[in-house]
Amino acid sequence: MAYGFGDEFLSDLRSRCDIESIISRYVDLKRSGSDFVALCPFHGERTPSFHVSVQKQMFYCFGCGAGGDVITFIMKIENLSFPEAVQHLADIAGIKVPRKDFMDSELAALRKRVYEINRVAARFYHDFMMSTEGTRGLEYFSSRQLKMSTIKHFGLGYSPPAWDSLLNHLIEKGYNVSDIIAAGLALKNENGRTFDRFRDRTMFPIIDHRGNVVGFGGRTFDKDAPAKYLNTSDTVVFKKQDNLFAMNFAKDSKAPQIIICEGYMDVISLHQAGFTSAVASLGTAFTQRQALLLKRYNTNVAVCFDSDGAGKKATARSIDILEANGLTVRVLTVQGGKDPDDLMKTEGGPAMFKRMLEVSPNSTEYKILTVKQKYNLTLESEKTLCIKELINVLAGIQSPVERAVYTEKIARDMGIKPDSLTAELKMLQKKLSVKAKRDEKRKLLSEIQSRNDRINPQKQKWPKAAKIEEDIISILLNYPEKIDDVEKNIGEADFVTDFNRRVFNAVSEKIKQNPAGEHLNMLSKHFEPSEISYIHSFITDINALSVSPNTLCELCEQLKEQRNSIIQAGFDTDESFEAQLQKIREKRKNGCK
Ligand SMILES: [Zn+2]
Repeated sequence: MAYGFGDEFLSDLRSRCDIESIISRYVDLKRSGSDFVALCPFHGERTPSFHVSVQKQMFYCFGCGAGGDVITFIMKIENLSFPEAVQHLADIAGIKVPRKDFMDSELAALRKRVYEINRVAARFYHDFMMSTEGTRGLEYFSSRQLKMSTIKHFGLGYSPPAWDSLLNHLIEKGYNVSDIIAAGLALKNENGRTFDRFRDRTMFPIIDHRGNVVGFGGRTFDKDAPAKYLNTSDTVVFKKQDNLFAMNFAKDSKAPQIIICEGYMDVISLHQAGFTSAVASLGTAFTQRQALLLKRYNTNVAVCFDSDGAGKKATARSIDILEANGLTVRVLTVQGGKDPDDLMKTEGGPAMFKRMLEVSPNSTEYKILTVKQKYNLTLESEKTLCIKELINVLAGIQSPVERAVYTEKIARDMGIKPDSLTAELKMLQKKLSVKAKRDEKRKLLSEIQSRNDRINPQKQKWPKAAKIEEDIISILLNYPEKIDDVEKNIGEADFVTDFNRRVFNAVSEKIKQNPAGEHLNMLSKHFEPSEISYIHSFITDINALSVSPNTLCELCEQLKEQRNSIIQAGFDTDESFEAQLQKIREKRKNGCK
């Protein structure tokens, strides 16, 4: 995936987009020597393993293995393609992308068309609702006490009951049926017939934090329908777990905290009542990516889910995810089985909600309350069980000061001495922290491993050879002047794994073009962000390798030996090793018959 941008233009762009200032728009960078460290925005962690090197203009996370230059960072965090990330940075730097250089990848071009189709569709649904045929939709929203200004603000609409109204409208406007299907707005049945996905539903456009219409939620009028809402399924521009409804408005709110609720109508009613920082998770369990999106705009959140059993579970889960990603959580409970939408419609409701925001319990108080409600504390036996469960809550508190405060409080409430809690608490804490660290490490390692296996699958078969290849590449990246020594000894044909051969070719080409350049950074236009992260892991490993003048020659010799022994074992390296392996497998299979 090479793009038409010239290295010169990209170098200029990188020099104007200092990695420290760009990354600090997303995370809190703390100085550490000549570098910066932070909590990684790509995985949940409590101790920082995300490093930014100003001198090298690179980032690397020792936890999850994400790494690269400023363009790779933007691709990952904004979920953009390479040309889109370049455009994004050029806008920040205030420089023009040379048109002759700009060449959309197929994916970037499709995404552009899908954004456009979504925008036209949102307009269509809205206009249809405002027409004489669309009164059913408008009546629904006014029955929910929405003002016309609110309906317009959110771009709400109504999808016609017919099978192909939107399709015909979009085709008339010149859009392709395949693009309309890619946008998730039409479906094709087994007979090849295409039809509108959203029919006879009130429509809620989902707009991302950049202002693009990325998808829709559609509410049915059918009271017996198993699910009231139908959401756009994942498309090239929309992943449910990455987005939050109304984030486009909430990000600009000056409110002290972001309010997370369950439904579209909760959010809209709250905004109408002046709570413009309300967002909704889109009918999914709250995800880490949503937490990280919130964190860019505000680290204080108030969770306001339904107070039924499912809502309580969702609350507990979202507290864990939000806190693991460094957000401070309060929990709002609307009493009497009501949701925020109901509350906004009752007399004095908005004022009550405002007070609740100020006095609602923090996550620890909420957890303690929830545990206590489960037990009949007048019975000694239940009281003991309750205390045991409360110790679990205490053990989960990260801050020692906060833990001490709540230990005192629980002891007082339960009429026991704090000391009797502390002993058991310490034991449990030790057990939990060891386990949590081990689990986290295991999870990350397995994620990194599966990423590596995907990128260089041949490394599993020839780990020794692949490791030598990686060492040679990392020496070249650190000491580009060694290129002649390498080329005297080996060529691309000596590489055993296809991926490393590709990296070697790209690196040596860059070094020859510009011996003094930042060669690793120059790779970002030839490789995917995950591949760049993988290449970065070679370099962070180099510290373990002592580089003497002879090291390189030795490595080259070792690689040739490896290659020869693999060939002797029956492989011919002129073809891809994977293809060879397949041939041998087939031969063996046939031989067995
Ligand atoms: Zn990370």
